[in-house]
Amino acid sequence: MCVFCEIINGELPAKVVYEDEKVIAFHDINPQAPVHILIVPKEHIPTVNDLEEKHAEVVGHIFLVAKKIAQDMGFAENGYRILINCNRDGGQEVYHIHFHLLAGKPLGPMLC
Ligand code: ADP
Repeated sequence: MCVFCEIINGELPAKVVYEDEKVIAFHDINPQAPVHILIVPKEHIPTVNDLEEKHAEVVGHIFLVAKKIAQDMGFAENGYRILINCNRDGGQEVYHIHFHLLAGKPLGPMLC
């Protein structure tokens, strides 16, 4: 079973910061910045390559959720980074699409 589906189903604990009918957002277990949150659609979509037109709404919704979390947690003005990895060369390890939301320090021009 996919680890993010287990979190969505409540079978695996996570530090959830936001949830609605379409998405869940929780703290990354291995943070790469002072703030590192993953925003995940509840539908199991393995990679960006699997996105279809029908997913446009949830993908757009995820950006609005990122903005809301940034405002609610107080780092919207300082800034943040939203990052998506796809497949092997993109460094994807969990094959359930997720948006990394990174903040809390100046992140530099690239994160690699
Ligand atoms: P990468 O590890 O290269 O960032 P991904 O883009 O696939 O690859 O990101 C998977 C992310 O999921 C990682 O940042 C990892 O720390 C995180 N992660 C894995 N398992 C859990 C978990 N149970 N709870 C929270 N975050 C997790």
